[in-house]
Amino acid sequence: MSNSQVKFYSGESIPLELHKTRIVQKLHLVPIERRLQALYEGGFNTFQLNTKDVFLDMLTDSGTNAMSDNQLSAMMQADDAYAGSQSFFRLQKAVEDVLGKKYFLPVHQGRAAESIISITFVKKGDVIPMNYHFTTAMAHITQNGGRIEELLCDDALQIKSDNPFKGNMDIDKLVACIEKNGKENIPFIRMEASTNLIGGQPFSIANLMDVRRVADKYGIMLVLDASLIGENAYLVKQREREWQENSMADILKTMTNLADLVYFSSRKLSSSRGGGLCTNRKDLYLKMEALVPLFEGFLTYGGMSVREIEAMAVGLYETLDETVTGQSPEFIKYAVGELDKLGIPVVMPAGVLGVHIDAKQICAHVPQTEYQAGALTAAFFLISGIRGMERGSVSNQRDENGNETWADMELLRLAVPRRVFTLSQIKYVIDRMLWLCDNREMIGGLKFIYEPPVLRFFMGKLEPVSDWPERLMAKFRKDFGDSL
Ligand SMILES: *Cc1c(COP(=O)(O)O)cnc(C)c1O
Repeated sequence: MSNSQVKFYSGESIPLELHKTRIVQKLHLVPIERRLQALYEGGFNTFQLNTKDVFLDMLTDSGTNAMSDNQLSAMMQADDAYAGSQSFFRLQKAVEDVLGKKYFLPVHQGRAAESIISITFVKKGDVIPMNYHFTTAMAHITQNGGRIEELLCDDALQIKSDNPFKGNMDIDKLVACIEKNGKENIPFIRMEASTNLIGGQPFSIANLMDVRRVADKYGIMLVLDASLIGENAYLVKQREREWQENSMADILKTMTNLADLVYFSSRKLSSSRGGGLCTNRKDLYLKMEALVPLFEGFLTYGGMSVREIEAMAVGLYETLDETVTGQSPEFIKYAVGELDKLGIPVVMPAGVLGVHIDAKQICAHVPQTEYQAGALTAAFFLISGIRGMERGSVSNQRDENGNETWADMELLRLAVPRRVFTLSQIKYVIDRMLWLCDNREMIGGLKFIYEPPVLRFFMGKLEPVSDWPERLMAKFRKDFGDSL
């Protein structure tokens, strides 16, 4: 059963919540004047906001998915031990049952797995072909002297497309990349499930099989970033004809079986904290094992609390339940459909993780050098109290010569964490986005006033290039009176 299978007599097409809420958290919608002040305090960077000023927190799905009653109760029976905890063995079994891998290394979150993989396998001058980069994955590869090549199909970066698998790797480009760089300079190929930065777009199993065939032909290892694999599996079941009759469990294992090494962030995958690396190849496991006690903690906790480990184990099994894993994609599909009807440019087909709004079109009058996506993200928070995340040039890193690299896509991402928001909250998002688009020409640009050298989007501070935020606020007051 999935959230979209219940038909409405009225003919309306809305996703129905197949869960009930038993613990709630009060939210605060502060006046727009306070939100403007908060933006200045946080350098127009939504990472720098305090949640006391945020109404709907759509920054990320990372560690913000709702936990289930079963996860919370499992946390109570956690076994506190530095070494040999029962909680760890339950998690190890869950990893083997759900992801089909025997050897498991726990880490405190996904990027720690990326660090361990990069330290172990990447050397100076290496090239890592991938469908598309993720910020932390790329940062660790470049820190270790490697570089990346992104091999998406040509239409993957089009905002509106009917390609159901925009996360697919272009196989011809992969072969050309290997021939050009030499297989000895390619330690692994990286495939990312539900390609995060291009709008949460899945790959198909057929494509992953093709990548595997190329990897085998050249004797190159295949690494799978499985942080968003549950949703990728859900969309495979919906969109890839050959797999519609298969269970989530089958689809998931089929994908992980194709990779030599699988890593994940549990902050996404299993509604908890932590992360892990798993493989059926003992040689790979042994190469990485020593780095876990060095950086993370002993092999049976890897920097996580035992309570987190219990929640992660239960969450992994719950990933196989379509009403759990499908809830967020179904809400996203609803929001994307409604926004598109209103003429608001949004990444299509609907992906996972969140709604991705095209700032390049909405802020076409703002030069890319003034960070269109950053500007839209700040403007949207100002007029709604909704915190989204910039996924554009602010999230890019400078090249080796210190020059700006301009992002392929300038997106405002509004994350829809699993089973957190209600449909009326989603309707508020749509309403405020419509108002902002009707007043789009009032949005102006941003410039950096503090730019750290690594992962600048986390700590960087910006300011508006003019008094556009004040003018936008005045227009809001004119149209909405004293409404919040
Ligand atoms: C979040 C994420 C990571 C990094 O995981 P963290 O737990 O945040 O360190 C890696 N890859 C993908 C695809 C992600 O979405």
